[in-house]
Amino acid sequence: MTPDRLGVAELRQALAARDVSSVELTKHLLARITAHHELGAFLHVDAQGALQAAASADMRRARGDGSPLLGIPLAHKDVFVTADAPTTAGSKMLAGYASPFDATVVARLRQSGAISLGKLNCDEFAMGSANENSAYGPVRNPWDRARVPGGSSGGSAAAVAARLVPAATGTDTGGSIRQPASFTGTTGIKPTYGVCSRYGIIAFASSLDQAGVLARSAEDCALLLSAMGGHDARDATSAERPPQDYAAPLAQGQAGASASRPLQGLRIGLPREFFPATLSPDVEGAVRAALAELEKLGATLLDVSLPRTELSIPVYYIIAPAEASSNLSRYDGVRYGHRTAQPADLLEMYRQTRAEGFGPEVKRRIMIGTYVLSHGYYDAYYLQAQKLRRMIADDFQRCFKDCDVIAGPVAPSVAWKIGEQGDDPVKAYLADIFTLPGSLAGLPGMSVPAGFGEQRMPVGLQLIGNYFDEARLLQTAHALQQATDWHRAVPPGV
Ligand code: GLN
Repeated sequence: MTPDRLGVAELRQALAARDVSSVELTKHLLARITAHHELGAFLHVDAQGALQAAASADMRRARGDGSPLLGIPLAHKDVFVTADAPTTAGSKMLAGYASPFDATVVARLRQSGAISLGKLNCDEFAMGSANENSAYGPVRNPWDRARVPGGSSGGSAAAVAARLVPAATGTDTGGSIRQPASFTGTTGIKPTYGVCSRYGIIAFASSLDQAGVLARSAEDCALLLSAMGGHDARDATSAERPPQDYAAPLAQGQAGASASRPLQGLRIGLPREFFPATLSPDVEGAVRAALAELEKLGATLLDVSLPRTELSIPVYYIIAPAEASSNLSRYDGVRYGHRTAQPADLLEMYRQTRAEGFGPEVKRRIMIGTYVLSHGYYDAYYLQAQKLRRMIADDFQRCFKDCDVIAGPVAPSVAWKIGEQGDDPVKAYLADIFTLPGSLAGLPGMSVPAGFGEQRMPVGLQLIGNYFDEARLLQTAHALQQATDWHRAVPPGV
């Protein structure tokens, strides 16, 4: 079997057994990245740096180093700053920007022995659901190159699905790990807000932004998350918890469960608002089939309600732009990235720099955000949204009295065609309906492959857990993946 077919756990074994060296593996994947250039997944490939790091990983292994991710090649969404590669956040504004330091998540993965092959395409400043808002062109879905891979972590999802990397980092503010994972048949986890440090992640909406993983299995997500997470004094919102090993407990199943029914005793709540009449029937069919598998594994399904699900769309699209308008004010041509040539005066420099550097969706969000924060509209929009955000979080806590995990679809449809949504941004906003509630509440969520819908496009099952219950989510997804093969399907021509 060629090494690109192996996930992180399998590669760890292959490297430990000396079936493959990190240099061989890295060379192989670099060749694949070149061969699949048409996908548009990578914005920057660091072949030289990766090969050097691989050679040093092989040497460390020969000396007995047993770091958990030693010699495993990964790639990072281009919103993580990296000292050895440029960081653009998918924006012209940051073209040519080089950070003097690594994001905490990147640094921790490096400390665990992982290698970075480069930086992955994404929507500009992570604003979008299809990777169509990148200033550096769209990303193609490996399952159908005429379709989007989802967004904003579209490059991460496409690279993992096309077997260019075994796993990649992503960020999720309102669904940007879960939705592209769903659209590409990959497994994604967004942990509880505060589990991964935001230090060195280009900020979009700081009260929502969270780092996570896109990989080929729950086990691989667990391996990476164990290395990435844990308290970081450099992020004031980082949860004061020690790093956790999410991978080791996976084999155990629910406490007191048997091998054939590893999910015995697990109560899965299905919010009725996650199964509206408008849900595409093929998506619903795939999700229900995955739920039936979970039942066979011992879980019980029950109905719950998240009555403010629909409201999460306006609430998110007020709060996220409000925070973005503030975060993006730093791009004024003075300190970071692009600066307009020959401005007449200072004001002209600010104006022209921002007019040239930002794309249309980013400008739209800055305008919406500035509007909802302005005197006279603050109470009517921003404050109302904040109050509703709390109520949405409370609704989840009511559900978690009756169930351990909440499940439903990730998105109302499979991946759409590139360009299909035209100029109407609201179409994409509405499609975020099932990922936004969990984001607003700060809860952990996963997308787990659940088979295929229309035109043999992948469908993801969403699992949402209570705060810091990542271990249970991963365990549930792992049990499903032990019993089914959906996550092993390879796109055609890959
Ligand atoms: N699609 C959502 C948006 O456009 C979510 C993006 C994200 O999670 N980064 O804002």
